[in-house]
Amino acid sequence: MDALRVLTRSTNLKPKPIAASSSRLPSAGKAENPQLFRSADNQSSKKRKRQDSEEEADFEAADDQTLDFFGTPKKTSSAAKESVSKHEQKPNEADQDFAEDEDTKSMNEEERRSILKTHKIKVSDMRDLKEILAIKMGRKKSKKIEKMIASMTKKQQKQARQLYPEPLTSFGVLRKKYSIPKRLEQNIAEQGFRVPTEVQIGSLPILLGGISISTENGTETHANPDLMVVAPTGSGKTLAFMIPLIDKVVRHHREHPGKREIFAIIVAPTKELVGQIVNEGRKLALGTGVKVTAMRKGMKVVDDQEELEDDTESEDSSSAESSDDDEEDLDESQEKRRRNVTVTKSDILVTTPLVLVNALSAKQKKAVSPLPSIRHLVLDEADVLLDPLFRDQTTAIWNACTNVDLQISFWSATMGSSIEEFTKSMIKDRRTSLGISSAAPLIRVVIGLKDTAVPNIRHKLVYASNEQGKLLGLRQLIHPTAPVPSNEPRLRPPFLIFTQTIPRAVALYSELLYDIPVEAGGSSRIAVLHSDLSEKRRSEIMKGFRKGEIWIIVTTDLLARGVDFRGVNGVINYDIPTSSAAYVHRVGRTGRAGREGGIAVTFYTKEDIPYVKSIANMIDISEKLQGRTEDKSVQKWLLDALPDLSKEDRKYLKKHGVKARQASAKLRGDEKLAREARRNRISTKSAYDRRRERRKKEAIMASRKRRAESQSSED
Ligand code: ADP
Ligand code: MG
Repeated sequence: MDALRVLTRSTNLKPKPIAASSSRLPSAGKAENPQLFRSADNQSSKKRKRQDSEEEADFEAADDQTLDFFGTPKKTSSAAKESVSKHEQKPNEADQDFAEDEDTKSMNEEERRSILKTHKIKVSDMRDLKEILAIKMGRKKSKKIEKMIASMTKKQQKQARQLYPEPLTSFGVLRKKYSIPKRLEQNIAEQGFRVPTEVQIGSLPILLGGISISTENGTETHANPDLMVVAPTGSGKTLAFMIPLIDKVVRHHREHPGKREIFAIIVAPTKELVGQIVNEGRKLALGTGVKVTAMRKGMKVVDDQEELEDDTESEDSSSAESSDDDEEDLDESQEKRRRNVTVTKSDILVTTPLVLVNALSAKQKKAVSPLPSIRHLVLDEADVLLDPLFRDQTTAIWNACTNVDLQISFWSATMGSSIEEFTKSMIKDRRTSLGISSAAPLIRVVIGLKDTAVPNIRHKLVYASNEQGKLLGLRQLIHPTAPVPSNEPRLRPPFLIFTQTIPRAVALYSELLYDIPVEAGGSSRIAVLHSDLSEKRRSEIMKGFRKGEIWIIVTTDLLARGVDFRGVNGVINYDIPTSSAAYVHRVGRTGRAGREGGIAVTFYTKEDIPYVKSIANMIDISEKLQGRTEDKSVQKWLLDALPDLSKEDRKYLKKHGVKARQASAKLRGDEKLAREARRNRISTKSAYDRRRERRKKEAIMASRKRRAESQSSED
């Protein structure tokens, strides 16, 4: 159904012919290619070209029409060229190509470098640079090495860390080279995944086959390293960690028939994301005998707890088959039944941090029970999970995984340096406390430019002087017949609107409730989603949006991370995000799997001016990556004029949001701010009307109370 046509039915106006971009809207279907780094980066701006001149020189301008996915390296030798073209795979050829023999041959370093570079994949050894250089140079004189490091440029230091492991050239290689189960290979193909995305090209071989590294005694060893992966939003990270997990569980089952224990844990910050990962996992695991389960309140995970028969098996496979996009969902009776059920018979447990920590500490009160069976721990959206807000819970789970062979991996589109440092020291401390000597290093895989927004969406930064202005701007934006400048794309449903707090999301929702004509479905087309709603309601809204019944969701940062609605056409930041990372993730709900045509609109008011710079910068970088030099969303004068934010202010903002928009409870005691907050309420009603309404309500309440009192005295 054409949402726009339905939306305009009640007005007698005809919809304007939609700009050329309409056929390329994210909701228009599948992207032709899920990879991000192909032709776009070859048009990069001059400035970026200069920065990255060496790298850029290796790309030849690929013709958009021919979709030269792997690009063609210019300066590489003919041997490398040949190898790239041999491994090159266009989506429609992918099926036939599964049978080629070259896939299983090992590549030489030049070939590996060339392919990794073409896809903007950088793999680094995260050990101390001193340690790496000592190994490379075969000496232990630390003073000399220290001197050497001091004389190196940052770029040289980065190069010293760089590794060139074998990239994945096609999904066909997964079975031929890494012997993944046949059924798993079929499931990948059945879901229509033809060409691996960059993150899959870079990380699947490392997770499935390990990596060769030099060690202190001068030998090469093969290790299963801990892995940190930083790859753009919507680039297919879930598949990249799920395929190896399923493969490993199947092997484990083969080696230990009849024994099922929790083998891997995936931690994600929200229930919505947990549900989605479970669904994706179940689709991949279909028929392999691997069980993927969402952790729920009341489930037991530790062996010494009372064990009951798990009745979720049949439901698992059937739900995976019947529901394509549905959320992992339970009705209340099922929920009650599950509370008495153990999950120790699941292979892969997917959970939010708190619910697992609670389950682990239930018996021992404070101490967390160990989970020695866990061999793999995956932290999805790892920078959130290791942010001070969740850190204690996440590290409690990490510490509970006492198996000496534990492999941990961290996944996100953004990874601040403080998070990197924290993971390194955590890994070190854990090794010391468990007495683990094998020093498989932490390996980091970065796709593209770290911590930036996806390059395939359009950004708009809109100034509105105050709250009313924002509401007006939003109405204009979402109104299907509002005039749009010819060079600008029109925002079309489905889209997401983000606010700073739950009360603001609720208020904005009630404001917009009647903006959609009844003929088009009216208020049923719009929903508000936040963490105060029941789990059931949350899951219903997610389902409704995926099915296309709901067109607009007003939400908080709850939906900013990881959630994959395939055809979201736009993201509106009604309230500005509280950090540049939050911006990257919110706008990353559109433009997924390489889809073009998504729009991200960010409103800002007077109060936001101190906080806009980091977002404006982010937009500027993203547009540079797109190669956009004209018609930019952020003019240079604006970037120059915007003030920088101090470190303390940035921290405060991230934690509490813009003060004037905080929930009023937080502002109690500060009359001035509370007044400002009232002024910033989302409402089109004037203060006079609100006061009148409040008085009327109070009068009604008072009269009811009087009546009740006189009644009771008569009794
Ligand atoms: P991320 O975790 O990186 O944000 P997801 O794992 O949620 O991204 O994947 C985004 C979307 O891309 C999903 O809808 C997924 O099905 C799709 N996808 C993943 N890998 C591929 C692929 N190789 N080809 C096409 N689509 C893919
Ligand atoms: Mg994800």
